[in-house]
Amino acid sequence: MAKAKKNLNCKHFLQGIAVSPGIAISKIFLLLEDVEEVDSSVIDDEMIESEVSRFQGALSGAKTDLRMLQSKVAHRIGKESARIFDVHKLLLEDHLLIEETINRIRKEKKNADHAFSETMDKYQHTLSESPHEFFQSRVSDLRDVRRRVIRHIQGDRTDHLSKLEGTAVIVAPELTPSETVKLDKHKVMGFATDLGGRTSHVAIMARSMEVPAVVGLRKISGLVKAGERVIIDGTAGCVIVGPDEKTLTEYRELQARHYELEKKLAGFKDLPCVTLDSKEIELSANLEFSDEVDSVKSHGARGIGLYRTDYLYLASEVLPDEETQLREYRKIVGKMSPDPVIIRTMDLGGDKQPKSFEIPAEENPFLGWRAVRISLVRQDLFNTQLRAILRASHFGSVKILFPMISGLDEVHECKLALEKAKAELRSENISFDENVELGVMIEVPSAALLADKIAREVDFLSLGTNDLVQYALAVDRGNERIAYLYKHLHPAVLRLIRHVIQAGHREGVWVGMCGEMAGDPLSVLILLGLDLDEFSVCPTAVPEIKKIIRSVNYREAVRIASKVMDFDKASEIERFMVKIMRQKFKDMNF
Ligand code: PEP
Ligand code: MG
Repeated sequence: MAKAKKNLNCKHFLQGIAVSPGIAISKIFLLLEDVEEVDSSVIDDEMIESEVSRFQGALSGAKTDLRMLQSKVAHRIGKESARIFDVHKLLLEDHLLIEETINRIRKEKKNADHAFSETMDKYQHTLSESPHEFFQSRVSDLRDVRRRVIRHIQGDRTDHLSKLEGTAVIVAPELTPSETVKLDKHKVMGFATDLGGRTSHVAIMARSMEVPAVVGLRKISGLVKAGERVIIDGTAGCVIVGPDEKTLTEYRELQARHYELEKKLAGFKDLPCVTLDSKEIELSANLEFSDEVDSVKSHGARGIGLYRTDYLYLASEVLPDEETQLREYRKIVGKMSPDPVIIRTMDLGGDKQPKSFEIPAEENPFLGWRAVRISLVRQDLFNTQLRAILRASHFGSVKILFPMISGLDEVHECKLALEKAKAELRSENISFDENVELGVMIEVPSAALLADKIAREVDFLSLGTNDLVQYALAVDRGNERIAYLYKHLHPAVLRLIRHVIQAGHREGVWVGMCGEMAGDPLSVLILLGLDLDEFSVCPTAVPEIKKIIRSVNYREAVRIASKVMDFDKASEIERFMVKIMRQKFKDMNF
């Protein structure tokens, strides 16, 4: 991949993981964990009751936090240690404390955080003046409760994103999927985060928003100040804080060249995705939000290979009901028609925590209650979603995809749930496509090994390499410290992929890939040579992948793939592929 420029004059130069290409030059919008400054203002009479309810809402939000924290601590450290939170819960229910705060709001017309903060200051002072050690030691509990409630009154970090004025680059320790869904896409020029890896969700979001991003920078959020000028080089994976004029000029030129290359690639938009020796390949795009369909089409994708419905759940405080879901699905299916849309049932859990229902805190969320594991327990949610997807299938070409399947039991249970939803719609005389195709994501190693048996149950398989790599190599996909181990070109991963494709074909089903690996130019020839039928990539990667596929012979790709399968290490495979790609594609960055 492209190298960062050397010998630059700037305040800080940081190297991280390149996750979304391009150059952004902008000011920093710093999003830190805790926002706790308390504003003191006199409120208008008509604001009084809404401030009181903001305070009451914050108390109940803080109680929910504590409940979750307590169960996590009880699980990790023990029930005894978890008892410390009982004191916090009692404080949150203390009548005097609550009344005094409400009085300050009503009588002194103070805003909720100011009123609560003053009440807590008073309590804190009384305790710290006490001659008894026991009471003095409770001061830290008060501080903790104060911080927790104020955070709830002020709203979470997401609300602070709404203060984003003009355009900026977001710098943060990390961003959760539920925060990224609330971003104003027109104002965000790029991302730079301390944590994260190539397939973490901020990376996927940045690519779908078409803005440069670098993650895994470890300490950037502690080094920079809000408003500072910054360059994000999402191609080389570096961030330059406080660049001098010469550096700025160099990067403006690089930025112009990047746009130039994009323009050239746009020429591939309407061309078919076919190799020099006429093998046709399905090239589709991944989608997170319905308003990105235009980008999918303008980049020349023929269909949606993965619609992540998860964001529909994350974007809302309440569960999306059948009609809401149907509206979204219809919008996408209608715009894409006659091209197919593969709708994946929700993949919540892991790092995707919805606000509308509780996923209890877990020791290992990525190995926990996630995706179909939730759907199969919460049959009510599953049924609503399946009904909405089926109803959307009446308006175009829809296929259904189940995530995180680990064995045949789950496939059977998912099919039963689907049959039930179909039977309901039939009895209600609601139209849907009776032959809607069904697929399973192969993203858990056990499913990869059982690909032949799973293939007999469905119409297609879709390789989810983002998870398959993390589970096969035991490398957390979001952990920057071990990102050097997260390699989709690992020989073990390639063997799993080859096995899945061959097993699928033997059973007569097509095999696609919707993990980020499908959009990695270094992997394309190998996947083509292994006989992958469909590549589903982020919209901006479509032209580049099409250009590569159109420039080679399928038979040559088979030779390359077969050679690659003999290598022992990921590093050897990467070196070999960089050499080949540099020879073949002189105008691209490898
Ligand atoms: C995958 O795991 O490869 C995938 C496409 O799903 P997600 O990134 O949403 O987990
Ligand atoms: Mg996945």
